[in-house]
Parts: sequence; C-alpha cells; structure tokens
Amino acid sequence: MPNFYHPDQIIRPEILALSAYHVPPATGMIKLDAMENPYPLPPVLREEIAQLTANAPVNRYPDASAASLKAALRQALSISDDMEILLGNGSDEIIQIIAMALARPGAVLISVEPAFVMFRMIAAFANIQYVGIPLKKDFSLDLETMLAAIAEHKPAVIFLAYPNNPTGNLFDSAAILSIIQATSGIVVVDEAYHAFADASFMDKLAQYPNLLLMRTLSKSGLAGLRLGLLIGRPEWLMQLEKVRLPYNIGIMTQLIAEKVLHHTAVLSEQAEAIKSERTIMSAFLGTIANIEVYPSDANFILFRIHAASQIFQALKKRKILIKNLDGTHPLLENCLRVTVGTPDENSQFCATFHTILSETV
Ligand SMILES: *Cc1c(COP(=O)(O)O)cnc(C)c1O
Repeated sequence: MPNFYHPDQIIRPEILALSAYHVPPATGMIKLDAMENPYPLPPVLREEIAQLTANAPVNRYPDASAASLKAALRQALSISDDMEILLGNGSDEIIQIIAMALARPGAVLISVEPAFVMFRMIAAFANIQYVGIPLKKDFSLDLETMLAAIAEHKPAVIFLAYPNNPTGNLFDSAAILSIIQATSGIVVVDEAYHAFADASFMDKLAQYPNLLLMRTLSKSGLAGLRLGLLIGRPEWLMQLEKVRLPYNIGIMTQLIAEKVLHHTAVLSEQAEAIKSERTIMSAFLGTIANIEVYPSDANFILFRIHAASQIFQALKKRKILIKNLDGTHPLLENCLRVTVGTPDENSQFCATFHTILSETV
C-alpha cells in the first residue's frame, strides 16, 4: 500500500488558497443577484425550439466549428468579415482560453478592481500572474496608475469590462484607447452588458490590432445556454482556437442560440424593458435618505447604504436575493448590487426594502 498524498501535498498552493466561486441557493426566492434577464422567451419561439431539440441528433458530436451558429452571430451582431469569432461555453471559458494561451513564465494579466472576479480567479487557474489596479473612488479608471502598471509589468493581456461589473459604469472610452495604445500586449474589452449600454468598441477593432472584443448571450436572456464569443483578428483567434476544446459548444446550445438569433427583436425588446425598469428603480432608490446610488449602463444597480450587510440579510429573510458586496473590496464598503427584474419583482424589492428601512431606523 502506498502512502496516499493529502490534497495539500499535490494541489498547487494558488489553488489551495482560493475559495470556490460561491453560487447561493435561490429556490423560492425572488432572484435579483445574478444579472439574469427575468423574461422567458415568447411561446411561439419556445414551441419552435421544442421541435428543434426533439429532432436534434444527440447521438452525434455537435458541429465542432459551429459554422451555422457563427454565421447567425455575425449577422445579428454586425461583425465585420475581416474579424474572426471564437466561441466559448460562456465568456468565462473564453477568459480561461486566453489566460491559458498567454501563460508563459512571468506573463502578467492586468485588470482593475473592483471588477469581474473571474479575471483574478482564472489567472490563478492558468498560473498567470495577476495584477489588479484599483479604480478611483468614483469607479472611474485611474489612467495614470494603469499606464505606470503597463510600463512596469509589460502585461500580456489587460481585461476591461465595458460596462464594468459590479459597478455598472462605462469607463471613459478615450482612457481605454490610451491603454490600448500604451500596451504591447492584447486588451480584451468585455462587453457582457452591451445590451443595456449605448456604447461599444466593435467599430474600433479594425483600427487597433491588439484589441479583442468579448460578448455573451448570458445577460441578454440565454444564461442557461452558456454561450460567449470573442471577436478579433484572425492572427490572434487562430492561436486561441488551438486551446479551445473541440466540442465545447453542445448541440442544444448551437441549435437554440441560432434560432433565437434569428429573432433578435425579442431580446432587444426585453433589454429595452429592463432599461426602463432600471430608470424606475434608480429613481426609487434615489428617494431613500443616506443612500448613494451609482449610475448604471448595465442591468443592475450598485448602491451604498449604512448597515448594508444587515439589509442584505433582512431582504434574504423575506425571500429577496440580491448581492452583498460589503467586504469584497475596500471601495465597495457597504455596497449592495441589485439586478433589474420584472416590474413585479422590482416593486416587491422596492416595497420590502422600504419596510426593512422603516423597521431598522
Ligand atoms: C457575467 C459576466 C461574464 C460571464 O458571462 P458568461 O458568458 O455567462 O460566462 C463575463 N464578464 C462579465 C463582466 C460579466 O459580468
């Protein structure tokens, strides 16, 4: 009998030091924590999807190149013919593909803080050094510090979410362009919340050879399918494509996403409804005393309020789940993030929030 290793002896120390990405249970809750689109697809479209999936050849591997789905994406997102598309099982997987491909010894991945936590976590998975540059107090980019970090670390890649999560704001586009021009490495602009913002770097791809653009269908209504995409020059995507596992996009995702992309008006109407509700919710939150509500170009609202963690728990007790960011970063002290839901969910959130505040005062 050998002496079996304890996990501590053979798991990499960076992995031992991580805590797993926590997804809280949400059964029976009003779920306003994960930036999902709250609306189902219309019945006619669901019926068509039912037919498609009933006839899907699930005994066969899916199309490894997902050619038909890519063509639908190219059309729906107006992607130029000069640019290639790489598909991921969610954009999380694309972040991982990029990090794995670039993780030469000493390579550095830069992002800002607070930002999407997977940038930091995936850097650890892929064994690429992570450097997080704090945002300014108003959550804008600290360009001077970013440029100094670029000069010091010569990063292989910089990830910037546009709009940013969890803060909801769009960074100054001129500042992002300065970063793209200052770095020799690639810059990935992550437009996960593009559906709710009126800005994009899509039209900058042709001009900047080190710019790559990432999108996902998760926040605009298809989170359960897991489909993300990277758009960029063939010379970059050709290399990254080698790291992609051959059948990472399953047949159901390919069939359903392609079908829905032929009805993009459905998703854009839902995004418009979410944007109107965002205005209503921000206005409601703005009427509360001693609250700081941050402007949002995404489908969630960040706000700062005294005793945030207690308020979060009180909402949870009343079956409303939002996201508590207090304690996750110094700039997010007493911050909570609420995803914009349906009008009914949002009214319940607002009413419950009001009740809790009147009780705790
Ligand atoms: C939600 C989110 C993603 C991940 O989306 P998936 O496509 O569902 O993996 C990527 N980037 C940001 C900034 C996000 O908020």
